[in-house]
Amino acid sequence: MSTSPSLFSRNLRKSFPVAVRGEGCWIYTADGRRLLDAAGQAAVVSIGHGVAEIGQAMAEQSSRIAFTHTSQFHSEPAEKLAARLLALAPPNFRDGGRVYFTSGGSEATESAIKLARQFHLEQGDGQRYRVVSRRQSYHGSTMGAMTVSGNLARRVAYQPMLAEWGHVAPCYSYRRPAGKSLSEYGLECASDLDLFLDYNDSGSVAAFAFEPVVGATLGAAVPPDGYAQRIAEICRSRGILLIADEVMSGMGRTGKAFAVAHWNVEPDMILTGKGIASGYAPLGAVIVAPHVVEAFERGSAAFQHGFTYQAHPVTTAAGNAVLDYAERHELFERVVAAGDDLKAQLGRLAAHPNVGDVRGLGLLLGVEFVKDKVTREPFPKEDNIAERVRQAVLEENVLVYPTQGCVDGERGDHVLLAPPFTITREESAIIFRALESAVAKVFGAGRSSHS
Ligand code: PLP
Repeated sequence: MSTSPSLFSRNLRKSFPVAVRGEGCWIYTADGRRLLDAAGQAAVVSIGHGVAEIGQAMAEQSSRIAFTHTSQFHSEPAEKLAARLLALAPPNFRDGGRVYFTSGGSEATESAIKLARQFHLEQGDGQRYRVVSRRQSYHGSTMGAMTVSGNLARRVAYQPMLAEWGHVAPCYSYRRPAGKSLSEYGLECASDLDLFLDYNDSGSVAAFAFEPVVGATLGAAVPPDGYAQRIAEICRSRGILLIADEVMSGMGRTGKAFAVAHWNVEPDMILTGKGIASGYAPLGAVIVAPHVVEAFERGSAAFQHGFTYQAHPVTTAAGNAVLDYAERHELFERVVAAGDDLKAQLGRLAAHPNVGDVRGLGLLLGVEFVKDKVTREPFPKEDNIAERVRQAVLEENVLVYPTQGCVDGERGDHVLLAPPFTITREESAIIFRALESAVAKVFGAGRSSHS
């Protein structure tokens, strides 16, 4: 069966299989295939597919009361989940932090942009409105979120409609200049923010947004120690709020509840989504530090923003049920060992002349392909390598998340791996074998200009 022609699909020239069932790391299709979900779809599914108790918790909440509007009521599941997220967040969020629930990651970014602006207004500083971010980043598809996103391919069609608030250097260790140490490179990338602010009206900057581990755009690029700490210092010293976009890297995905905890960084806001409800419900959140909340309390007390479905009782019930399940099965605790195992297996791919880098943290991993391993030269865009690897992996019944453009927005190919936290050693071995076979099919014995 193919998809209904009534659906405005992501690509009208493609046909999509119909998923009918999921169980653990596996998805079953209407045409009888069984596919290993090595990307958790898009780094979403953390507890695995087909956990019936999540739907039961949602049905129970829905049968009691499915919806109330936040202008009139709060709900028990939303209050409970907010408290649990604050407990998972870094220590600075604990005493007086609050959580703003949305229906996904893009809405979380939008909300954080407006929160940052209004935070400064509440303090009597009407000059600050720009949210600076990084090139080679993705923060969502709505207009504010696109404005801060640096992913060129996703921005290009809408360029004339987007404000220019400024983008600074990403931190992409694999492509650091030759001869530069990791720590030198990290500090140099962080200095780019300082330098940018020196020359670009820092008094109008409300916040800086970054992905602590870059997800789709750079394929799990992890900064060296020191980078995130220096970024936090720069923001603090200049009165700029620090927004950590952990829509992909949060909720246990990198081996800590939030990736900033790897570097003991305490942002002013953390954005989350995806794994927060493991795909069982559309849910996102902005976790807000106490001093930001206090500015509102001292000021107007009213955030001029809102969504009909914010803090929805049924989606937050899903979030609680997902956390209950993860806690009972100690799934966050599995991530480090499962990630090390998968990364070690994938590391064997690096012997191939066209596999340039295998990287990542926990179960957020990336494999980058290059034309020349010595010079790290990427393939031409037209070679469509990432998509061809995806297709070849799919022939082995494994799903990965391909992206092009990691080098300069156009060239550069990688696939992202972000399986459910329940992944077993045997399943990781299947992923490795599928990629090994795909690499052999797409590149043969190797197409390096140095080989
Ligand atoms: N921020 C990051 C880092 C993301 O990876 C994504 C989605 O991929 C988003 C924001 C947008 O989230 P959503 O697609 O749920 O709107």
